[in-house]
Amino acid sequence: MAKLLLLVAVVAAVLLLVKNYQRSLERQQTEGEPRARKDSLEDMVRCAQCGVHLPRSESFLSRGRYFCSDEHRKLGPARRERGE
Ligand SMILES: [Zn+2]
Repeated sequence: MAKLLLLVAVVAAVLLLVKNYQRSLERQQTEGEPRARKDSLEDMVRCAQCGVHLPRSESFLSRGRYFCSDEHRKLGPARRERGE
């Protein structure tokens, strides 16, 4: 009977450890999320012509592509960007 109790205790301890481990993993993921969300809130876009990064509010949008200037918007996406 004592062995059975020991076994139950060991199983319970292992389950607890696994649960704690999963919780710490989840915590790491949720902690990492706000940082990633903040990055996406930066609203930085890439010029499809020259590849420069700029705030979306300062970019020129054309056919779903962002450009750093009206000149680049007229030029259109660079060749390497067209295949996407
Ligand atoms: Zn550009």
